[in-house]
Formats: sequence, C-alpha cells, structure tokens
Amino acid sequence: MFSLWIKLIISFSLAFFVSWVAFKREFLTKSGAVATFFLAVVIFYYGGIKWSIPVLMFFLPSSFLSKLNNSKRSGFQNIFEKAGSRDFWQVSANGGAGGILVLVNHFIPSETWFYLYVAYLSIMSADTWATELGTLKSRKTYNVLTFRPVEQGISGGVSLFGIFASLAGSSVVVLSALPWLTGNPGIIFLLIITGLLGSLIDSVLGATVQVQYKCGNCFAVTERKKHCNIETTKIKGISWFNNDWVNFSAGITGILIFYLIGKLFA
Ligand SMILES: [Zn+2]
Repeated sequence: MFSLWIKLIISFSLAFFVSWVAFKREFLTKSGAVATFFLAVVIFYYGGIKWSIPVLMFFLPSSFLSKLNNSKRSGFQNIFEKAGSRDFWQVSANGGAGGILVLVNHFIPSETWFYLYVAYLSIMSADTWATELGTLKSRKTYNVLTFRPVEQGISGGVSLFGIFASLAGSSVVVLSALPWLTGNPGIIFLLIITGLLGSLIDSVLGATVQVQYKCGNCFAVTERKKHCNIETTKIKGISWFNNDWVNFSAGITGILIFYLIGKLFA
C-alpha cells in the first residue's frame, strides 16, 4: 500500500514536471499541457518505467524538433493549421491511444499491448521527425500518390530526406524499448518499418481526405480556416478531418497492419 502511494506521488510529480516544462518552453499550449499531464500520470503510474521510457523518447525529441523548426519555418505557419505549440487535440491524437493501451494492459495483461504501444509511438515519432526535419530546409517534395512536385510543408508531400528522418524517429522510440522487446528480433525491425509505413499512411490521408482550404486573398493552399484575416474556402477533403484525425487514423491503421504482419510471422 505504502509503495503504491510512493508510485502515485512520483507519477504525479514527474507528469507535472514534464508538462510544466513543456508548457513553459512553449512546446505545448495550456490545453496541451493539461492533456499531457493526465496522459503522463496514467502512463507513468500504470505503466512504470517500461511504458514511460518509449513515450518520453517520443515526446522529448519531438518537442525539441518542433521548437527548433518553429523559428526557422515561419513560412509554414501559413500552411499548418496549428504551428509550434501542441494543443489538447494534438496531444490526444498523438498520445491518447498510448494511454488507452496502458489501461487495457492493466486490466487485461498481455505483451501484445506493449508491442502495439511501441508501434503507435514509433509511427507518431516517425511522422513528427519527417514533418519537422523535412521542412527545416528547402527540399524537393512530391505528392505521395502522384509523385508530382508539390509545395513543401503541404499535407501529402513526401521527400527522400523526410523518409530517412522518419526512420530515425521510429528507431529512437523502438530502440529505447529494446530491453522489453523480448520476442523475435525480426519484430524490432518490423516496429521500425511500421513507423515509416504509418507516416506514409499519414501522407496518403493528408493527400486525399484531409481538409484543405484556399485563401481568397493570397491564393495560398492551407489547413487554416482563416488566412489573411478572411475566411478561406474549402477546396478538398472532409470538413472535420483535420491533421489531428489524420495522425490518429494513420496511427491506428499502422498498428493494425503491424499486428497482422506480426501474426503472420509469429
Ligand atoms: Zn492568405
């Protein structure tokens, strides 16, 4: 009983520390910090070190990359719906499934949940690294489906560099979980590839169903509902299917594919 209290206090303190620092350094908005706090308490308390390390290895580097990029890419602020600090829905889209998997594992313990958890974080990390590093410098960017050159930073755009960045992002998460990935070594490779696959699914969704608007003043294609202080017009996609839904859907699709391939070779 005593040790449970200690664990709870440590989880609360650590969750508070992480979300507070992230808020202060403007990695997160106020609502993003609140979401991160609750998510972190759940993961730290119910997951212990095993589940906490991979999520931190996603969260910390991603935050730094977003911040690093923020100062250099002011141009993309015009395209991205939400630039820089992450809000409640972005945090939920990136980490909510992770929190759910920790809870599911608490009530119905199985190693499978942990593998799905690492796969999900691997995708989120891969996608963040690809987006942030891929837009850091000007690079040739192509539509993921048509291979036609597109404006850098636009949803559905991929670059060769972005692909390498996404592999680096997924590797960091997967390798941090290595002490607890005791199964077939092939599964570790599969987890890393799942990150890349998920970030490509993200691009496909971005190029197809994600909502995109056009500004009537400067004619920029954007994810924003307002541009140049006027309402933009929808040019494609499903109205409510914004970047958060794209991230979440890509993550879920990615872990389902990972699960099926994993089953096939297990
Ligand atoms: Zn405009």
